[in-house]
Amino acid sequence: MSYQALYRVWRPQRFSDVAGQEAVTRTLRNALSQGNTSHAYLFSGPRGTGKTSAAKIFAKAMNCPHAQDGEPCNACEICEGITMGRLNDVIEIDAASNNGVEEIRDIREKANYAPTQAEYKVYIIDEVHMLSMGAFNALLKTLEEPPLNVVFILATTEPHKIPLTIISRTQRFDFRRISAGDIVERMAYILKEKAVDYEEDALLAIAKAAEGGMRDALSILDQALSFSNGLITLEETLRITGSITQDLLGEYVSSALNSDTEKGLELLHHILQEGKDANRLVDDAILFCRDLLIFKKTGEETVLKMSKADDRFKKLAEAAKADKLYEIIRVMNQTQQEIRLSSHAEVYLEVATVRLTQPSAHSQDPVVHGAPADSQELSALKGKMQQMQKMIEQLQESGAKGPAPKPAAVQARKPRKQQAFKVNNVQVFKILDKATKDDLNKLKDVWPDLIDYLPAGQKAIMKTSNPVAASPTGLVVTFDYDILCERASTDTFLLESIGDYLEKVIGHRAELCTVPSEQWPTVRQAFIKQMNGNGSADDSSGDDGQQDRQEDTAPAEEDALVSEAIGLFGKDIVQIKE
Ligand SMILES: [Zn+2]
Repeated sequence: MSYQALYRVWRPQRFSDVAGQEAVTRTLRNALSQGNTSHAYLFSGPRGTGKTSAAKIFAKAMNCPHAQDGEPCNACEICEGITMGRLNDVIEIDAASNNGVEEIRDIREKANYAPTQAEYKVYIIDEVHMLSMGAFNALLKTLEEPPLNVVFILATTEPHKIPLTIISRTQRFDFRRISAGDIVERMAYILKEKAVDYEEDALLAIAKAAEGGMRDALSILDQALSFSNGLITLEETLRITGSITQDLLGEYVSSALNSDTEKGLELLHHILQEGKDANRLVDDAILFCRDLLIFKKTGEETVLKMSKADDRFKKLAEAAKADKLYEIIRVMNQTQQEIRLSSHAEVYLEVATVRLTQPSAHSQDPVVHGAPADSQELSALKGKMQQMQKMIEQLQESGAKGPAPKPAAVQARKPRKQQAFKVNNVQVFKILDKATKDDLNKLKDVWPDLIDYLPAGQKAIMKTSNPVAASPTGLVVTFDYDILCERASTDTFLLESIGDYLEKVIGHRAELCTVPSEQWPTVRQAFIKQMNGNGSADDSSGDDGQQDRQEDTAPAEEDALVSEAIGLFGKDIVQIKE
């Protein structure tokens, strides 16, 4: 006999075997045992959560002459016929490969013939959202005039793609993602039946990676079984799933708590070098911090999604400040979105690591833990949101009607505690005063090699840097993140390394000035204005000073608003929409 996938062999045959969908199966069983069934059902939910299994059990329970409490006997001819897919009265259709009108018309015609062996004809249409419009219309007609003794069960992972006219004619059941606990329990049951030993943590790792889908979990378990010698180990399952061990995650989070950038980057590179997936790392880090946070607040082990409450975990939960855990979750969430849109996952993870290993602003404030602090934070946040709303309106107005509100007024409202990076205008202006295109081009040419030349920690800081102006002795570099500006301008080892390299390659060192990307147009504008005030028409930083000046006016004022907003809310909250 050829090998059969676990998820086929172990497909649940009774409602009580369907893992993690108690609410759905209870309702279905009640309806069946009370003879109170409907003629059309919609089973929606993520893949591998038991929709088609439940549909087949339902078909059996409706037709089994020995059904009890809404469960089929699984022993009679009808039950076995349905299990084996042999009974003509239970028809499974995969809409992904049958999206034509003809097939549904066919259903319509055949549905009108009475069932031959069973009491009810049951049509199970999987991935029903894949039907064409014409097919939906044909299906709708059937649902509008349901033939006697015919039941439709429509299953879908994407209910929003199904016409409302169809949905409104069905009784809908939503299948949830299956909890890790339920998946582990089912796998443990299967392994016990197969007499295969396993490490507890191995099953948890599989359940985590399966993200609530039993079919995925069982296919990972299949792979693990084929590698195992009678024992499913954590190490092997981590290798198969590309997941990261809890100990490594713990160390990574510790490096953030201890503001240890070197260690954080070292761990990151170690993880990536092992071939772990960047997305998986971000996912795991978010879930891990979520678990730490919840364990910290509740002390409950049962609420943990992916972690094991071992000694190291408990110590870490105790040591970690809630604020820092929130911050890690926030930064990782943002990183997740950035990674999705970029092919440079590693760079974003490095930036995230550098950000997270900075001593956070919060840690300087006395932090009150518990509910009062939360509500304080909440109202502070609400206040900020309102201010932000105003700023967005101002930005929109200025975008639409030309002149923006005066930057001077904005300046006056600046909060005392300014978190945005403070640009050293005097130094920058000195460079701009002597800036030439030649000097800039020379540096731009060597910049990628320079970054490559730097050690890992320094490389991570400089990766998003961009030279924007250069004089024979100085250089202005912009960074996407304020925090990196800060780091680059204070890291003496970095500045030394850059100087050494430039001396070797272009023959002289250059004084480095850092400016956040958002502030650069404003800084440049201020320089041009000053030049004008001094009666000098020579704008060496641009090709055409006069033209720049007119075009830059509105954007520069917008920039002021943007950097104001960033100062108030932090870069990760403010998103600049064009
Ligand atoms: Zn039966």
